[in-house]
Amino acid sequence: MQAARILVDGQSDLVLDYGIPPEAGDVKPGCRVQVPLRNRTATGTVLTLSEPAPAWKDRLKPILKLIDPEPLISPVMMNLASWAADYYSVALDQMIRCLLPETVRQENTAEKMRKMVYLEKTPAREELDALYRKAPRQAQMLDYFSSAKQQSAPLAAFGAGALNVARSLEAKGFISLKEEAVHRDPSTGEQFVPTQPMKLNSQQQKALEEITAMCAAERKKPVLLQGVTGSGKTEVYLQAVSQIVKSGKSALIMVPEISLTPQTVQRFKSRFAELPSSVAVLHSLLSDGERFDEWHAIRSGKARIVIGPRSAVFAPLQNLGLVIVDEEHDASYKQESSPRYHGRDLAVLRAHLENCAVLLGSATPSLESIHNALIGKYSLVKLTERADGQQLPLIRILDMKTEGRNKSGPNVISERLRMSIDRRLDKGEQVILLLNRRGFARSIQCPDCGHVVTCLHCSLPLTYHRTEDRLMCHLCGFKALPPRSCPECRSANILLQGYGTQKVEELLRRTFPAARITRVDADVARRKNAVRTILNQFRAHKIDILLGTQMIAKGLDFPNVTLVGVLNADLGLHIPDPRAGERTFQLLTQVAGRAGRGDLSGEVIIQTFTPQSPSLQYARHHDTDGFAAQELEMRRTFDLPPFTHIAVLTIRSQHESMAEFATQTLAARLRGMLPPPATMTDPMPAPIPRAHGQFRFQITVKGPSARILSRTLRKLVQEAGLGEDLTAVIDVDAMSF
Ligand code: ADP
Ligand code: ZN
Ligand code: ZN
Repeated sequence: MQAARILVDGQSDLVLDYGIPPEAGDVKPGCRVQVPLRNRTATGTVLTLSEPAPAWKDRLKPILKLIDPEPLISPVMMNLASWAADYYSVALDQMIRCLLPETVRQENTAEKMRKMVYLEKTPAREELDALYRKAPRQAQMLDYFSSAKQQSAPLAAFGAGALNVARSLEAKGFISLKEEAVHRDPSTGEQFVPTQPMKLNSQQQKALEEITAMCAAERKKPVLLQGVTGSGKTEVYLQAVSQIVKSGKSALIMVPEISLTPQTVQRFKSRFAELPSSVAVLHSLLSDGERFDEWHAIRSGKARIVIGPRSAVFAPLQNLGLVIVDEEHDASYKQESSPRYHGRDLAVLRAHLENCAVLLGSATPSLESIHNALIGKYSLVKLTERADGQQLPLIRILDMKTEGRNKSGPNVISERLRMSIDRRLDKGEQVILLLNRRGFARSIQCPDCGHVVTCLHCSLPLTYHRTEDRLMCHLCGFKALPPRSCPECRSANILLQGYGTQKVEELLRRTFPAARITRVDADVARRKNAVRTILNQFRAHKIDILLGTQMIAKGLDFPNVTLVGVLNADLGLHIPDPRAGERTFQLLTQVAGRAGRGDLSGEVIIQTFTPQSPSLQYARHHDTDGFAAQELEMRRTFDLPPFTHIAVLTIRSQHESMAEFATQTLAARLRGMLPPPATMTDPMPAPIPRAHGQFRFQITVKGPSARILSRTLRKLVQEAGLGEDLTAVIDVDAMSF
């Protein structure tokens, strides 16, 4: 008897082995089955098949029944899941949970049914007149169909008591009553006005041709579409998808986060408005019922266009023809909880496994993708002009060391920015203010000269650890005492940088008492539709100043916004993250694309203590290529991604000494296991040393092969057999540490 490893549905994360009796039929990975669990019957999903160890052969309980004759997970997707499980060091069942959302596996939100009335026979005029005299409600129901020019309608539309009316009509042969599944559509009630394809300019045309060629090519390469903000990338996506759908295939479009990119969804829904059910939208705020219906609409081929965030890479599209990753550089594609996969990287892999084309689009591509284009792994197409003929806005950099001074010390809003805001508000124009905020204030900066204390070996800012009163490098382990005065200018003001959105909001209200000010940050975004509502209000000019974190920089298009202010470019720049400069450059370039999209010309003001920083200077000149060239050079010099991979092992425990001791023990073993040229740090407290009642320590490893790093860490943890009080988390291609 063969054995099957089953992910058993239920509260706890059970993965158990069962035997496959001959009468169970053709059990394959990805099928759901019924299994005995203690004294009840449970459902589960088959993960893998294997020959059981001889000792277990007769002790395995047999599977009771096969639920899906065809696997719910295609062989390609099963491959993708296994690959990701290995690469990211997570159990296969964790990946399967991504592929089959709980609502699909457990079916407790299965279809919602409703009664539908179908017109079977159109009554003649005299029949209808006779009916109006004898049974007016029956006549009205029939009349509805001829006046509405419809063949069917939900029974509920006819009001109370309609069931008896319908039954009488059914007996006379005019109509039939049917039970039908209702599609729970998350965009019910929204109107989409169909749009026509635009005539592409020559650059767009070339981009579209490259994608079309790649779709037809035997050996495919990912296409990187580097197009300045407003260059018409979305129009290229729309026409590429239209071709794919016409050829009978399906398309997947990935976007950073749906609630923040409502316009992309809107544009797709409108372009394909004639095929209303063909566009499925996935996101984290769907109800279980909506998710169930969208999933099945996609799997059955009813929805052939899918738009969603990183998790949409697992959508069960059949016959996939094209994958698009919009804003491919966006940090939200990396999941920051287990499984810690990268949505863009898995999208490229999925396209490869399905042998379909993949298009990565951005105004500011990630250095990983630019590097891949430079070495010929990707094909590069550029859009260098704005499609609407607008000028890129003027960007001014304000040096806060001089501009931000007032009697009471450094200021949040400089006098120059305050005056600019006043001018815009006077003219009835709108303002976006951005607080660049990632993580916490953990690095040390001098407010007088802008100097940031960095690691001698890696150039990354050192992280301050309060408990030990030490500065540490989270990449190589270098430690130093925090300086009492600035090493550059001797100022004694050197301090931890940072302030929060709420504080700025208060300050703005005092500075601009007449302005209508609204704040958007992660707290606000957690409420369903909150961001969408605020953005709609902003569009309707019910808000004058929108204050937010970098999330508001994404894909927004407000014609009346003529000023964008970045309050503290430094806060995102000087953090111990090898991509900090890249992120800041991307953010500023995107933000600059927001100002002056309508007929009004725009202006961007960036406040900073380090005006000479390359991220700011290249952003000011809208020079993505220049930035990429110098940043890649720096990354090569300091051996940082994309020239290497980084993985982080974090050990958590409620007991500080236990976590620290375990991390030290693991580090000692790891030294003997890690194959050169990979390197590792000493154990050190994590950037957030304590969270959810747990202490966290970490080891960072670096090396040319992510897979070797991942497998080595996994082996280390497995062989160490950590006790119950300890949790190990492996983050491959970690984004921050
Ligand atoms: P991106 O996605 O690169 O930021 P969009 O697709 O949003 O750019 O295009 C920016 C603006 O230019 C939109 O208003 C769009 O309707 C318009 N546009 C795009 N392509 C064309 C074209 N070929 N001709 C005229 N206008 C265009
Ligand atoms: Zn200084
Ligand atoms: Zn270092």
